[in-house]
Amino acid sequence: MSPPSHDGRAGALMQDADLCVKCGLCLPHCPTYLVSEHEADSPRGRITLAQGLIGGTLADGASLRAHLDGCLSCRKCEAVCPARVPYGRILDAARQELAARDPQPDRWLRWLSRLLVPAPMRALLRGLIALYRGSGLQRLTRRSGVLGSGGLARLESLLPARAPARAPARVRSRAAAGPDAGPDAGPDVVPDAGPEVALFRGCVGDVLERAVLEACETLLRAAGYRVRVPPSQTCCGALHLHGGQREQARRLAQRNVEAFGDTGVIASFTSGCAASLRDYPDLDLGSAGDGFADRVQDVMTLLQARLDRLQFRPLARRAALHLPCTLANVMQAGPALRGVLAAVPGLELIDLDPPQHCCGAAGRHFLSHPDASDRLLAPKLRAIQALRPDLVLSSNVGCSLHLQGGLTRLGQAVPPVVHPAILLAGQLV
Ligand code: SF4
Ligand code: SF4
Repeated sequence: MSPPSHDGRAGALMQDADLCVKCGLCLPHCPTYLVSEHEADSPRGRITLAQGLIGGTLADGASLRAHLDGCLSCRKCEAVCPARVPYGRILDAARQELAARDPQPDRWLRWLSRLLVPAPMRALLRGLIALYRGSGLQRLTRRSGVLGSGGLARLESLLPARAPARAPARVRSRAAAGPDAGPDAGPDVVPDAGPEVALFRGCVGDVLERAVLEACETLLRAAGYRVRVPPSQTCCGALHLHGGQREQARRLAQRNVEAFGDTGVIASFTSGCAASLRDYPDLDLGSAGDGFADRVQDVMTLLQARLDRLQFRPLARRAALHLPCTLANVMQAGPALRGVLAAVPGLELIDLDPPQHCCGAAGRHFLSHPDASDRLLAPKLRAIQALRPDLVLSSNVGCSLHLQGGLTRLGQAVPPVVHPAILLAGQLV
């Protein structure tokens, strides 16, 4: 049995784990436990495994890795735990320990995480994806089945066939006008006089959801916020942290703390990133990390606070709402999202069944554990087929990709998966 390889945080982590009184109240809420009914796939079981691993009383082995790796990091257990056990922190520490002992698994995911960090690389990826889709190569690839049914075909199926939805041109010009826009910028420019908000754009979102950033800028300005997008910001570090690469995550966090300065609200439109930004105090950044986390809000929470300033045109559509776990359990922004969408006259919101259940995307889980994540996705896809909505709404880029990929693999005419900000910006009066 090898001794734990992490630095001096072992004591603090064991204290976190000791908060668990093993009551089991979290078990019926844990998606992986509900599927396997195996104690080691439950929050309580995983905490016990992490205690054994970090305390050096349990050997690192394939079975222990499978149970810890199989966690979705959905943090539903944290949201329902009466003892307020910081489960996410315990799991990240256990994964860090596993990665320190054997970094071999998931090497390609680590490579992908690194690839997405430099801004020029993200711009290149954006261009290549646009070319692949716009040239007809994507259609040809899918029709010919040349990629077979392996991992590459699965990865390809995640790319939506349509170009990302964009806010209408009128709305885009208002966003582009920026804080210095004068009277010539057009009648839609709202004077910037309200509180300042700094927008976080993320890395995967920056490649695949650029239009969402524009839509959020537009909505926040329409609600009277002064919006800026700090240019030197970088990836939130979630993929690195959940993959056990704590030091890399810490370096990224430090860059973000510097980029966003020490005042003002930080708005995120991807709930997975927002949850990761809120976890910065766990990365030992000192008081800068604490202050930073307290400033992070979901965009919808900010819009709801100034909803009286927003007016939307009617939209007679049925939209199936997918609530990402991080949005519901960490950001607790589900009611704000519903509240803002309810301000669109005629929009019918329907919940996917089972409501508030993890879709299986879970950060990188849908890439590292495709079979397990597809089992969790299946009820969502069945619900979409049965409910036949006009569109599916999701405010987390990972969930959107996973849902879109599942729908694409069904091979039928399927509704688009859209970020709520795109819908809302398109309906702004
Ligand atoms: S994590 Fe919380 S709810 Fe779950 S067994 Fe431990 S104390 Fe009980
Ligand atoms: S984070 Fe989610 S999947 Fe992991 S133990 Fe908690 S409830 Fe279960």
